[in-house]
Amino acid sequence: MKKSLFFIVFCAMLLCACGDTQETETTWKADSLADNNGKLTPPPNGVPIITDPDQFQPVTEDQSYHFETDWQNYLGKTGSNSFLAVGEDSYYYYNGVFLYVFDPKEKRYAKLCNKPECTHEINVGCNAELRPAESNITGQNLFGIFYYNKNIYLIFEIPVFGDSDAEGHVTLRLYRISPDGTERTAVRDLVSFYTTEKETAVSYTFIQHRGYLYYAYVFQKEGQNDFYMGGSNVLYRVPMDGSGEPECIMPIPEDSDLTGTKLYGEGSYIYFCFSNRTDCMGEVYRFNTESDQVEKPDIPRIGNSLFCPISGTIYYQDGNVLYRYDPVTNERKVLTDLSGEAKKRKLGYLVPNTDAILLYAWEYDDMRDSGFLEIGLDGRIKRYIQHPDWEENDILVGVEYPAGTEYMFFICNDDSGDGTSDQMGIGNTLYYLELSKSDGENPRFIQAN
Ligand SMILES: [Zn+2]
Repeated sequence: MKKSLFFIVFCAMLLCACGDTQETETTWKADSLADNNGKLTPPPNGVPIITDPDQFQPVTEDQSYHFETDWQNYLGKTGSNSFLAVGEDSYYYYNGVFLYVFDPKEKRYAKLCNKPECTHEINVGCNAELRPAESNITGQNLFGIFYYNKNIYLIFEIPVFGDSDAEGHVTLRLYRISPDGTERTAVRDLVSFYTTEKETAVSYTFIQHRGYLYYAYVFQKEGQNDFYMGGSNVLYRVPMDGSGEPECIMPIPEDSDLTGTKLYGEGSYIYFCFSNRTDCMGEVYRFNTESDQVEKPDIPRIGNSLFCPISGTIYYQDGNVLYRYDPVTNERKVLTDLSGEAKKRKLGYLVPNTDAILLYAWEYDDMRDSGFLEIGLDGRIKRYIQHPDWEENDILVGVEYPAGTEYMFFICNDDSGDGTSDQMGIGNTLYYLELSKSDGENPRFIQAN
């Protein structure tokens, strides 16, 4: 793969080596969010985009799922505030301050700390307390927790501001935590930038898959209209071991909205769809990691979360119809018509499982009355899995549905604050559902903590 846009963190220069990017005469500091003297940052060049399915290069590597290295398929694992990862023997759950290890079989729910005589409280050096040392921040700044190759990884946003809060640095940093919680390593900074506005928002989407972290970010500043400023709105990948520099796979089409974008990793492919801000629709693409090409399957413009890959086949929803599309044969088939379900419930996004498609749905008159329609790969609607009751003041943090595992998780926050508190995350409640013991409608979630 051609070395693409890369950036040197903590350095004022951003060297844009994505192909024939032109030199600009501006003197803006690329790691700052200062205005670029009215000049717009040109998009970097990505890898070639192949639009003719006949030209898609076949893959030869093993396409089956590998627990140690492959993306763990859970909802909530893309974008900010994901709180649960599947480990070898247990689940790892982060409540915003402490990392817990959770074993539903053994009913074990404990802070991940084996220090003798530790009280496991805040600010006593407990191994389970996970907050970057530089700043007193909590789960609000967690951008995700995930498992890869025998370790737990977390991405934190670390704002470091002086006393005046007038200026400082914001860094997105990848951490590695050993399964027993004793070793914590800062693997690398994904990006670091200088800003004069503490409230600069960062939105972010990522997954890990087969040795790489795939990610895109946006620095959002009031009045900002320079789409690619500071490396924003570009899909990158970088090796998980901390080596190498980020590679540019594809600049996100201008005027797209990263928010809500999901990335999927399966076999030799990374799937994604960036939707337009105007109509919330976009094109589905997949990055072929063997050919280093982006392929554009013959799928109409759809909502960015209305598709999912399962075993190399792409399922997508267009209107109220669910389709199955095979990128290899270019064959398309109606899987099921969801019009009847759409009369009963509002239909949301798709989530892939190994043998089913899950469609998020909620009652028209009460968004809190929500759950998943479980749709078999033959198009048959198996059932509706309703979420546990949650209170009006609660904040839904996420639903985690690790494919191929026995449990579904539901996380909500009983902190009735406005969601911006530094303490967000501490009041999380974790529920789980044992799928094998819940065949029928209205399965019962169990509260873990
Ligand atoms: Zn402890």
